[in-house]
Amino acid sequence: MFLENLKRGSVLLLLVFLLLACQQQIEKSQYPLHYSDAIFGTSFTIKASLIPESVNSNSVKKQIKQLLDGLNGQMSTYQQDSALSLINQNISSEWITVSESLYEVLKQANNISELSNGAFDITVGPLVNLWGFGPDGLSYTAPTDEKIKKTLVNTGFKYLLFNDEKKQIKKEVISLYLDLSAIAKGYAVDRVGLLLEANGIENYMVEIGGELRLKGLNINKKPWRIAVEKPTTDKRMIQKVLPLTDISLATSGDYRNFFEVEDIRFSHTIDPRSGKPITHKLASITILSDTTMKADALATALMVLGAEQGYQLAEKENIAALFIIKTEDGFVEKVSSSFVEKLR
Ligand code: ADP
Ligand code: MG
Repeated sequence: MFLENLKRGSVLLLLVFLLLACQQQIEKSQYPLHYSDAIFGTSFTIKASLIPESVNSNSVKKQIKQLLDGLNGQMSTYQQDSALSLINQNISSEWITVSESLYEVLKQANNISELSNGAFDITVGPLVNLWGFGPDGLSYTAPTDEKIKKTLVNTGFKYLLFNDEKKQIKKEVISLYLDLSAIAKGYAVDRVGLLLEANGIENYMVEIGGELRLKGLNINKKPWRIAVEKPTTDKRMIQKVLPLTDISLATSGDYRNFFEVEDIRFSHTIDPRSGKPITHKLASITILSDTTMKADALATALMVLGAEQGYQLAEKENIAALFIIKTEDGFVEKVSSSFVEKLR
C-alpha cells in the first residue's frame, strides 16, 4: 500500500510518533543529521545524534533518498512499472528471477505467513483492492459475498514458490497478486539503518510511517523515548512512552486507515481466512523485534489474529507484543512475557 494514502487524503498510520512537538523543535537544531520527507505514501524521519567528522550529512541524505526511491521502484503496487507490479502483471507460472532485496522481503513474508498460519499473507492483494484499500482507491461499498469468494480462490501464500539458490519465485496460480504494504516499510527502515551504519553512524532513529529502528542513544545521551499512540481516531494522545535502544518497533492499528458504511467500520487489515476486514476488539498492536521488517509483518499478523489468538502466538513464539484492546471501560493493555523482558 504505498502511495495511496496521500492521494486519497487520509492520514496514514503514524501510530507511533516522537515525543512532544516542542521537544522535537529543540532537538531538531541539535541533531547533526535530521531528515524528514515523504515516501511510500507516508512520511519518514531520520535522526542521528552523532556522526563521524569525516561524514557529510547532505551526502548521507542523498544516499538515503536514492535508497528509498530504489526500494519504492521495486516494491510498490502503486507504481505500475515497479518490479513487483511487473510480477503481478505477469500472468504465467514461469520461474521469475528477482533482485536480492525483493527476494529477501518475499521470503521473510513467507516465513511470517508460516509462523502465523496464514494470518499474514501478501497474496491478499486482490482482496485489499476489492475492499478499496489498494491502488484504485476507496469504493465505500462492501463487496458481495460472491465476489469475495471468487477473489479468495486466487489467494494463498502457498501458491508462491521459492528457489533460494537461484533467487527465483514462481506463481502456481497465475493470477497471484502480491502486496508488500505490510512489510516493505519495515524492510526499508532496516536498510536505511544499515546505510547509516555503513557511514559509521551508530546512534540513530529511523522511522517510516510509524515503523522504527533505534540504535545507540539520543542527543541527550539517553535511550530513545518512543510514544505509542492511544488508538483513537479523533485526537492524537499518548498511551505509553517506551525508553528503547538497539531494537525495532512496529505498530498496526485500525483507527486511522478505515472507512465506515452504515456505522460499520472497515479496516484495511484483511483476514485472509474470510477475505473480509478484521472486526475484533484489538485496537492496536506494537511489536518489538531485532529487525523492523519482522516487527512490521508480525504487527499485521497479530492484528489479524486478534487479542486472544495473537497473545497465544506471541507466548508460543517469544514475540514481544503490546496489545491495546477496546473495552466498554476504555482501552486495556496486555503484554506478552517477551515484551516485559525486552523492556527490562
Ligand atoms: P499497519 O500499520 O496497520 O500494519 P501497514 O501499512 O503496515 O499498516 O499494513 C497494512 C496493509 O497491509 C494493508 O493496507 C494491505 O495493503 C496489507 N494487508 C492487509 N491485510 C493483510 C494481511 N492479512 N497480510 C498481509 N498484508 C495485509
Ligand atoms: Mg505495518
